Amino acid sequence: MARALLSHYDLHARDLPWRKGQDTYRIWVAEIMLQQTGVKSVIPYFQHFLARFPDLPALAAAEVAEVLACWQGLGYYRRAVHLHAAARMVMQNGAGRLPETMAGLLALPGIGASTAGAILAIGSGQRVPILDGNVVRVLSRLLAMEEPADAPAGRARLWKMADRLTPADRPGDYAQAIMDLGARICRPRKPDCLVCPWSSWCRAHRSHTPTSYPRLLPRRTRPEKYQFSLLVLREGSLLLTPRPARGLLGGMWEPPGSPPEETWSPPDGQALVNWIKNRHGMQVTLPAPLEPVRHAFTHFRLTVYPYVCHWLAHEPPSEARWVSLPVDRSLPVSTLHRKVLTRIG
Ligand code: SF4
Repeated sequence: MARALLSHYDLHARDLPWRKGQDTYRIWVAEIMLQQTGVKSVIPYFQHFLARFPDLPALAAAEVAEVLACWQGLGYYRRAVHLHAAARMVMQNGAGRLPETMAGLLALPGIGASTAGAILAIGSGQRVPILDGNVVRVLSRLLAMEEPADAPAGRARLWKMADRLTPADRPGDYAQAIMDLGARICRPRKPDCLVCPWSSWCRAHRSHTPTSYPRLLPRRTRPEKYQFSLLVLREGSLLLTPRPARGLLGGMWEPPGSPPEETWSPPDGQALVNWIKNRHGMQVTLPAPLEPVRHAFTHFRLTVYPYVCHWLAHEPPSEARWVSLPVDRSLPVSTLHRKVLTRIG
């Protein structure tokens, strides 16, 4: 099976920027970006990131805000925070380059077994399996696996299968080939079984049921949450504050506002004036409501109610910043809050 897949890969491999050479830093950055994002969206971010942080020492020397600024729009910002923290750990340990063992890689923040496998297989030719989302789909279909792929038993079976299939010869190409197979042929909704190099081994293909797999545990519905966001203007500038480094959108900048809550009753203007006075010590005009913004996170859906007002008196706390409008991309602002900012043009 590995031979059939590699022959197919030799003819059809995608020309991707992180596939040039065996630089583990490039492979690591690409694998982290690809964890939650498709190849097409990742390519420009990868190129920009590598131009800005060409190697691990450059990444470690940067401030986390610069890394987040390069990441803005890609989402799941914790990935960038972990990437930066891991680069610093590697530099502090004195090695200056990524470890070449599974245990060494797993000790770094943001690196799980599949990412470590990809770095070791592609970067240093070690025979180590991978099991990213694409591979989960391919193997679940190959086995017509009835256990949910996200349950421990299903996961363990998939890892075992991934290990059995990984060849000693060309494990790095094999890792890329199986990722390509999942992304381009064994697609979630429209698998192209007729051109698949594994169709003669595939149980789901034989039973005409590929899209029934992977089976997954029943999903909990995502709760709805609500918050307000206060856009305070002062002579063509907007007040932004940094989020705490840990937690949702950690390290990103945004207008002051309430945390996401599961209940919502629209605050009146005076309540918002009092809120910002108590919270940031400033006096502002009566805020006016703007059109709400909706956004989906992995675990909940959020509706942000923006309000706009003007600064009148008293400086905000020192960690806040007045930022000229339009807010440029040197400051890390999430896609959600860039959407909120569009409400003031
Ligand atoms: S035969 Fe079809 S379902 Fe099976 S692995 Fe190939 S593309 Fe996926």
